[in-house]
Amino acid sequence: MAEPVYRRVVIKLSGEYLAGSQSAGIDQPTVDRIADDLIAAQKLGTEIAVVVGGGNMVRGVEVSSHGVSRTTGDTMGMLATVMNCLALESSIERRGTPARTLSAFVMPEICELFTRAVTHKYLAEGRIVLLGGGTGNPFFTTDTTAVLRAAEIDAQVVLKATNVDGVYSADPKKDPAAKRFDRLTHAQAIQGGYKVMDATAFALARETSLPIIVFSIAEPGSIGAVLRGTGHGTIVAD
Ligand code: UDP
Repeated sequence: MAEPVYRRVVIKLSGEYLAGSQSAGIDQPTVDRIADDLIAAQKLGTEIAVVVGGGNMVRGVEVSSHGVSRTTGDTMGMLATVMNCLALESSIERRGTPARTLSAFVMPEICELFTRAVTHKYLAEGRIVLLGGGTGNPFFTTDTTAVLRAAEIDAQVVLKATNVDGVYSADPKKDPAAKRFDRLTHAQAIQGGYKVMDATAFALARETSLPIIVFSIAEPGSIGAVLRGTGHGTIVAD
């Protein structure tokens, strides 16, 4: 088996994906399948931290359109990400691999606070680390969180797991003429306004010289394939 290309990675997993075929909530078979994939990927010898989204439960923008303030809506969204982390942590641990949820918020009864030192310690111990609570600030996304955390913990790459196999010029599920990119610079990704990740995330990645690989998680084993350098995705790097 080929050696993994990366020593330490941050994987961004959208909350939406955890809903499986449902429109919202947590689909346990999907969580379990992702847990299997993460464990298999970690067995290659790469340290794995996962930033989990919350879009399967709450998005601040949506909630605030019904009357809740945007900052409260965003706080609700960040709390949703912690719930997703706990679901994933529990599934990974049931399979015999240690995992730890760390949150951007102080919530000692539930999980530890994210710090660089604690993250490094758990990764070195062979745990899969799940990062919840986003950045801890409203008006950001978990895509931006993934880049921020990757820069903070000296990860070599952000793996953005999505429903499609890379960055397209338009939504390939709606536009059959959408063009797929094998490679983009950070500047091209920002200028293109591609919906797969927000511009703040791309801008922070450019500033911190972090490559991002956008790939589809729909295929079991796809995380491991990306780690071995044999996966299929779009690389965003300068
Ligand atoms: N959120 C936030 N600050 C952050 C990260 C997330 O306020 O640093 C909130 C925001 O309301 C967002 C929600 O949490 O809509 C869920 O995160 P996101 O939309 O990134 O999740 P995903 O789309 O990946 O499931």
